[in-house]
Amino acid sequence: MIIVLFGKPGAGKGTQAPLLAHELDVPTLATGDVLRAALRAGTRLGLEAKGCMERGELVPDSVILGIVGEELCQPQYARGVILDGVVRTVPQAEGLDAMLAGHRRRVDAVLAFDIDNDEIVRRLSGRTVCENCQTPYTGRAVGSVCDKCGGALMRRKDDEPDAIRTRLRVYDEQTAPVLAWYREHGGKVVVVDAVGEVADVTARALAALDSR
Ligand SMILES: [Zn+2]
Repeated sequence: MIIVLFGKPGAGKGTQAPLLAHELDVPTLATGDVLRAALRAGTRLGLEAKGCMERGELVPDSVILGIVGEELCQPQYARGVILDGVVRTVPQAEGLDAMLAGHRRRVDAVLAFDIDNDEIVRRLSGRTVCENCQTPYTGRAVGSVCDKCGGALMRRKDDEPDAIRTRLRVYDEQTAPVLAWYREHGGKVVVVDAVGEVADVTARALAALDSR
């Protein structure tokens, strides 16, 4: 089973990916990880990617997908894989489809973790961090006192409501066309409500993947 994973920032994709992988007994594969591995191993495509990066250029989709494709030939992916961050644009979705077809495989499901934007802003802006020892807190007001060192709690710039709304807008602009592309091309697109306990969200995702 090949699953392409999407998640709004703050929807808990990073938490859910390994839990789903465990339940489905398949590994996860993230572009950044395989790219770094290919650079370290100095494969032909790895060297090509390295050249682009040294010239300050974006690594082309064809090179990234080639590296992902080589990785997917490893035996641990024979039963399936959860692809995390591999597809962000429509050309990447098309490229992945073509690459998988070359291996006689296909995407079985596209899973997106979704939450109401206001809930995400509420969640993320409720995070603070000690300006002194960097201990993270949730549900503590900015300016309250760190339990560990007595330092003041502050909010990271990334967690300011305006910054969160910008990230959500970027996600929507990027992701909506990709989900639409998969729907148009007969893919199974599952949008899972990511509000609630972690285990409940995992169960919801598994149930949604099961239903056809
Ligand atoms: Zn502290």
